[in-house]
Amino acid sequence: MKLELKNSLSVKLLRVVLLSALIVGVVLSCAQIVFDAYKTRQAVANDAQRILDMFRDPSTQALYSLDREMGMQVIEGLFQDEAVRMASIGHPNETMLAEKNRDLQKSSSRWLTDLILSKERTFTTQLVGRGPYSEYYGDLSITLDTATYGEDFIVSSVIIFISGVLRALAMGLVLYLVYHWLLTKPLSRIIEHLSNINPDRPSEHQLPLLKGHETNELGIWINTANQLLVSIERNTHLRHEAENSLLRMAQYDFLTGLPNRQQLQQQLDKILIDAGRLQRRVAVLCVGLDDFKGINEQFSYQTGDQLLLALADRLRSHSGRLGALARLGGDQFALVQADIEQPYEAAELAQSILDDLEASFALDHQEIRLRATIGITLFPEDGDSTEKLLQKAEQTMTLAKTRSRNRYQFYIASVDSEMRRRRELEKDLREALAREQFFLVYQPQISYRDHRPVGVEALIRWQHPEHGLVPPDQFIPLAEQNGTIIAIGEWVLDQACRQLREWHDMGFSDLRMAVNLSTVQLHHAELPRVVNNLLQIYRLPPRSLELEVTETGLMEDISTAAQHLLSLRRSGALIAIDDFGTGYSSLSYLKSLPLDKIKIDKSFVQDLLDDDDDATIVRAIIQLGKSLGMQVIAEGVETAEQEAYIIAEGCHEGQGYHYSKPLPARELSAYLKQAQRSNAAIL
Ligand code: C2E
Ligand code: CA
Ligand code: CA
Repeated sequence: MKLELKNSLSVKLLRVVLLSALIVGVVLSCAQIVFDAYKTRQAVANDAQRILDMFRDPSTQALYSLDREMGMQVIEGLFQDEAVRMASIGHPNETMLAEKNRDLQKSSSRWLTDLILSKERTFTTQLVGRGPYSEYYGDLSITLDTATYGEDFIVSSVIIFISGVLRALAMGLVLYLVYHWLLTKPLSRIIEHLSNINPDRPSEHQLPLLKGHETNELGIWINTANQLLVSIERNTHLRHEAENSLLRMAQYDFLTGLPNRQQLQQQLDKILIDAGRLQRRVAVLCVGLDDFKGINEQFSYQTGDQLLLALADRLRSHSGRLGALARLGGDQFALVQADIEQPYEAAELAQSILDDLEASFALDHQEIRLRATIGITLFPEDGDSTEKLLQKAEQTMTLAKTRSRNRYQFYIASVDSEMRRRRELEKDLREALAREQFFLVYQPQISYRDHRPVGVEALIRWQHPEHGLVPPDQFIPLAEQNGTIIAIGEWVLDQACRQLREWHDMGFSDLRMAVNLSTVQLHHAELPRVVNNLLQIYRLPPRSLELEVTETGLMEDISTAAQHLLSLRRSGALIAIDDFGTGYSSLSYLKSLPLDKIKIDKSFVQDLLDDDDDATIVRAIIQLGKSLGMQVIAEGVETAEQEAYIIAEGCHEGQGYHYSKPLPARELSAYLKQAQRSNAAIL
């Protein structure tokens, strides 16, 4: 707040002091003037007495001798004094011996002085003879005009008045300056410091003690104010803490310290907004403990609380994968998995939580097992809002509990069964290799130079005890996720090489073996060594093994892929780029990779007769491969028309149902023999 000068304490004091000084000055001056008036009246009387004393003797003389002449001389002598207006000598009962008078003096201040001093004053002295009888002769009488006294009186009164007032004013001013110096100035400095105080941290800037005021009221004031500021800060701090803990209580679960439902809703709101913008999936998992009530009854509520705490800690260990984790209340928890691509990621999380619970909790020297049922909803499929997703997840969990426990359940049945199958497959996949459930089939690759099979592609098959043949499109991605692809891939390579050795030994010594490599395998450091070993163990000529790498797999990380391809090639294998056309490879990177062969994806080959675009793409790919000096093979050739087209465009090789389906080794041997025979027949 800005202080206006007219409101300043010192200005107000100046006014008060000046006014009172003025009043006091005036009153004192007036008293002095009254006293002066009294003194002037006294002076008139004294003067009169002096005159009378001076002229008593000559007047007595004149009256005694009845000398009128002398009487007049005395009177004239008296009139030398300006103040004398009338004088007489004579006996009161006779005519005067001598007398004289003159007019009153004119004076501008008469009107005032006459009031105070009277117009004129008459004084009489008795004239008495000398000698023993002291005979009375008469009186000498004078009347004094007060005008001259009045003028002097007025002058001195004015001086008294003015000097009195001036003195008072001067005193007032001095007082004001003293006051300003001692009080107003220090006060202004305090105000300045006060206005600099930060209300949030009031004791940060304490008021400084003013020099010279350490021990007086100002000093005490400042000290007290500083103490007050410190306690205000302390109080504010306490209040903040109280507010914070209130806020925590409103947003966090008291027991586990996890966010509560309210807080979760806020977090999920944000996550959904982001996911909507980025077009990502979100999974909401509602975890409900199975029969927690029973545990509470069997043990104690304290143990129940401790269990919940321990459970919260286990759930927290997944927080790296979580967007949010909360306790919904009682024995229910919610987990939010933000930014997922496929529902199976949620299934994996749910399963790992269930697996986590397999380990029992050690509490009160007892081993306690907890089981849970998990309901899962997906954004955007199952709902677009926090409320819907949470509500459905809770519903799903409750519903799942009524059927069987210790499991997870997706809100949508189809997703649920799909997820369930995936999980099962994934589990079985880990055992499949050891249980010898895999086998290889081989599909011939035909050279268009002489229409003879020059190679075969090894394709893996999984004979599942319950599901029958599981297509590789389903289990290869699972194997890539859980890492079993490395072992499976090595098994495929070994199997394929062993088979190739057999065919070479049977006389098909030019035959080439193509083996599919997963990207995970490609980036596995051991691969070149493994390939090298196999080629040596099975005594295979260097360029008889061809490794197929998918275009999309290469695209993920071109520079490391290029390195790994180079070291693979050094081991003597050929490299083919599989499913070509489905990734978006550019010419420049294709040139930079050490590739021997391009495999046109079957989707283009299959539609090339109906779709002009696909025909154009196939033609372009063939041109491209040739211009880069690579072999070109078309896969998925099913008809003679397709074959005719690609041959006309200059494609080197073909593979597809038109020649043969993928066949088990024994059948393929027969196929090879048959091909050899018919070729010999032509020759
Ligand atoms: P891919 O490498 O593109 O293999 C070609 C797929 O096309 C094979 O399917 C094959 O049976 C099928 N096919 C061959 N000729 C025709 C045809 O004329 N018409 C049609 N419609 N399809 C034809 P498959 O055996 O089911 O394999 C699917 C995919 O699984 C393979 O695609 C490959 O990416 C992967 N795969 C198969 N075996 C292995 C393996 O041992 N290791 C790895 N990493 N992946 C494998
Ligand atoms: Ca392939
Ligand atoms: Ca392919």
